[in-house]
This record gives sequence, structure tokens and C-alpha cells, in this order.
Amino acid sequence: MKNSIFKRSLVIILLISLIMTALLLVNRQTEAVSDTYNEDGLIEQRELNISVNDENRKFVIINSGLSSNKINKLTDELKIVYKKMMELNDSPTYTPPKKIMIELNKSNLISYAQKNKVVLYNMYSDNYLLVHELSHTLFGFGNSDNNEFYGNYGFLTQEGLAVFLQFYLEPDKSVFPNNSVNPDKIVKYLKGKQEVISLSKLGNPETAMNYFSIEGNTQTSYKTWISYVEAGSFIQFIVNQYSFEELFKIYNTENLEASVSSVLNKSLTELEEEWLSYIDTSVSDLSQQDKDNIIFYLK
Ligand SMILES: [Zn+2]
Repeated sequence: MKNSIFKRSLVIILLISLIMTALLLVNRQTEAVSDTYNEDGLIEQRELNISVNDENRKFVIINSGLSSNKINKLTDELKIVYKKMMELNDSPTYTPPKKIMIELNKSNLISYAQKNKVVLYNMYSDNYLLVHELSHTLFGFGNSDNNEFYGNYGFLTQEGLAVFLQFYLEPDKSVFPNNSVNPDKIVKYLKGKQEVISLSKLGNPETAMNYFSIEGNTQTSYKTWISYVEAGSFIQFIVNQYSFEELFKIYNTENLEASVSSVLNKSLTELEEEWLSYIDTSVSDLSQQDKDNIIFYLK
């Protein structure tokens, strides 16, 4: 009698372990990675699928000589930031491609994003612009309604969102343009020097190009650096004082002046005054450590 209860329990335990193993395998399958290796045994290419809210997206990581350990670290980081980013925007107008390539480079040139590709440099260090560039590819860069992808459709909100999200999700990364310093503090510093560029210039598609475009792979100018910092601080202000929902309604719109007035019920000039008076009253000055972090950019 005792023996048969023992046997039955054993069978049940075995069954439960089998079911759990099967469930684990299914779960691993959905986020399975598939690697190809080069002759030195390093990962050359990694494919993985990440699902968020039942939507599956394939990422292809293209490596150039970085260790497998580094690729594993990047994979974990990608899963975390991608999920967080996808959860920010409930009703996106832009649909990112189903397959996104992420090309990793060791050299220290300027990273960039395309519609279905992110190209990252400076991968030797921990300071690379994964979130910034991914933000362009995931939220769109250009006329979202037509699912187009090009720069001259609202640099201020595109670059602002990228700079803000990079700092919001990974505040310790020392990357362009704020090197882990809160962009609000840098705007306060610029304001003290009367070097703030007005949003009417940064937010106007006709003139924004002169401020945001980075020619080739050369060092960015002081003016361009200021423009990126301001954009990040301005978008941070909208998220904190308004909401992500309202931000995404003015994001990537052809006429920022018009979308601000219809979504937020005020002119861009009024919003700019609000932002700068917030900077004056609620933001602290750069510490010595902050100044050391951005010394490379300061005049
Ligand atoms: Zn950018």
C-alpha cells in the first residue's frame, strides 16, 4: 500500500518536472538567440526575437571582433531598453520594421540610425548610444503618417527624444551630448552665458538642419552640441510637466508650432518661456564634477 502511494507520488513529481521543462523550453524558444561564429570562435552575427505586448521583432546584431561576453551583455541591455521603450507609446502612428540590424564597431566615429539599421561606434567602452539611435529607429524619423524616414521633419523632437531617453533609461552612460549630466543643468549654464538658441530656430524645419546636422564623421561644433542639449532638456520638460502621451502627439510633426498649439493649447514661444523659467527656478547649477564630465564640449 505504502509502496503504491510512493510510486504514484513519484509519477506525479516526474510529470510536473516534465511540464515545467516543456514550459521553460517554449519560453526560451520565443526569445531564442541564434549565433554564427567566425574562425576565431567569436560571435559574428546574432539573431534574436524579442516580444513585447504580443508583437514580435527580430534583431540582428552584427559584430566586428568584440568578445562574446560583450555581445551577451549588449543582448541583455537591448532586451531591457527595447521593452521599456516600446511600452512608452500606447498608440504609435509610426510602425518600425519587423527586422532591425544593429551593427557594432570598435572605432570611435559618430553613431547613426536608419529606418531598419542602427550603427553603433565606440563599442570597446560601455559608452555607446544604443538607446539614442534605437529611439530614431523605433519611433520614426520623418513623416510618421506615411511611414517615411528622413531627418527634416522635426529635428527638435526627434533628437530631443533620443537624447532624453538615453539619459532617462541609462543615466550613467557618458555619451553625447550630455555625458551623464542632466541636460537641464547644462541649459541653465548656457542661459547664464546667454547662449541658448531659441526654439523658433531649432523647431523650424527650414532652419533646424543648420543646427542639428553633423557633417560626416568630424567633431560636432559648439552650436550643434548646444542644439542637442537643448532638445534633450526641452523634451524632458514636456515629459515631466505634461506627459509621454502629449509628447508623442507633437513628436515628428511637420509643423511643431501648429501641433504644440493644438495639443498643448499654447504657442511654442509660450512653451519655451515656461521651460526656461522652470530651468531658472527649479534646476541647480553644474557641479564641478558635471563641468569635468562635459569639459570636452565647453568653450
Ligand atoms: Zn540622433
